[in-house]
Amino acid sequence: MSEFPQDSILVVLTADSEGQLEKPAAELLGGAGEIGSPVALVLAASGAEAAAEQASSLGAVATLTAEVAGDNLGTAAVDAVAAAAELSAPDAVLVPNTLDGRDIAGRYAVRTGSAINVDAIGLERDSEGIVTNHSVYGGGYTSTAAPTFGAPVITVRLGAIETRGEAQAANNQALEVADSGKRAATIESFEEIVETSSRPELRGAQKVVSGGRGVGSEESFELVGEFADVLGAAVGASRAAVDAGFIAQSHQVGQTGVSVSPQLYVALGISGAIQHKAGMQTSKTIVAVNKDGEAPIFDIADYGVVGDLFKVVPQSIETLKEKQS
Ligand code: FAD
Repeated sequence: MSEFPQDSILVVLTADSEGQLEKPAAELLGGAGEIGSPVALVLAASGAEAAAEQASSLGAVATLTAEVAGDNLGTAAVDAVAAAAELSAPDAVLVPNTLDGRDIAGRYAVRTGSAINVDAIGLERDSEGIVTNHSVYGGGYTSTAAPTFGAPVITVRLGAIETRGEAQAANNQALEVADSGKRAATIESFEEIVETSSRPELRGAQKVVSGGRGVGSEESFELVGEFADVLGAAVGASRAAVDAGFIAQSHQVGQTGVSVSPQLYVALGISGAIQHKAGMQTSKTIVAVNKDGEAPIFDIADYGVVGDLFKVVPQSIETLKEKQS
């Protein structure tokens, strides 16, 4: 059995049905490397060994693999996290701030009585332990959370961590997971919804182009998609655009939607309400196009164009296409 470093940080990762690690792996392992020695726990229905090799190449000094069927709403995954934590005695447990990740993190924290720090945008270690940074009050402030006991469970916002780990030698072991016998749900039937879009997924995207009420209609919203496509970006929206039926709710960015931290966020016809800013203010570069020069979005924009988006966006698309050809 491997020895685990004294400053182990347990990173909970999932692999898809083809044994590929899911997207947040690189940033979580990079973030873990900032505060200790990353130990990856790879959860997969099958093919976990291949995913463990990927985790080593992304900076995990040790990997543990557990075959977990995804049909019990997280109980088996939490059993695996508990077994991995017992073995590696980590200083913190990092989980991606995704729907499934938050589910696992919450259940594990309740089961072990651990502190839980959700939606961290930064990770640090001080003389007393692990400290996390959080974007709060609509992104207007960054707060610091420092649990005073045990190993905190931390969900990490996708796109927030830029550090990447250096490849490590493969050091994998299959984890023995005892069934905790905790109550589990069973999914008896489900309907698979196949996303046909070739665009990047909003959560975790490197670039996002979002449209607001100013886009005006579902038909006009195609312009937002067209701009996103020339940039290779995901499509987002304000709640007003969603409520008006321009686009599905899954694209909503903000307090009651998805939080994003892309390298580039383009806001088209979005005023910049605090609830919208809450989900995008940590973007690295913000570009806003709005015909109202007083719109609050300009307070946080790195680049702003005061103008009609129906003039600005087609010209930008044309210029970008010329540059790309
Ligand atoms: P508006 O505020 O109406 O702004 C439209 C903008 O488009 C204006 O600034 C206008 O100048 C500009 N415009 C119009 N035409 C053009 C044009 N041709 N060219 C350029 N610019 C143009 N909102 C979210 O986005 N996400 C959330 O998660 C969210 N959660 C909420 C939770 C709660 C509890 C509450 C109370 C509200 C929440 N909201 C959320 C709603 C939020 O308060 C705002 O109402 C919403 O963000 C406004 O969306 P908007 O900027 O698209 O619309």
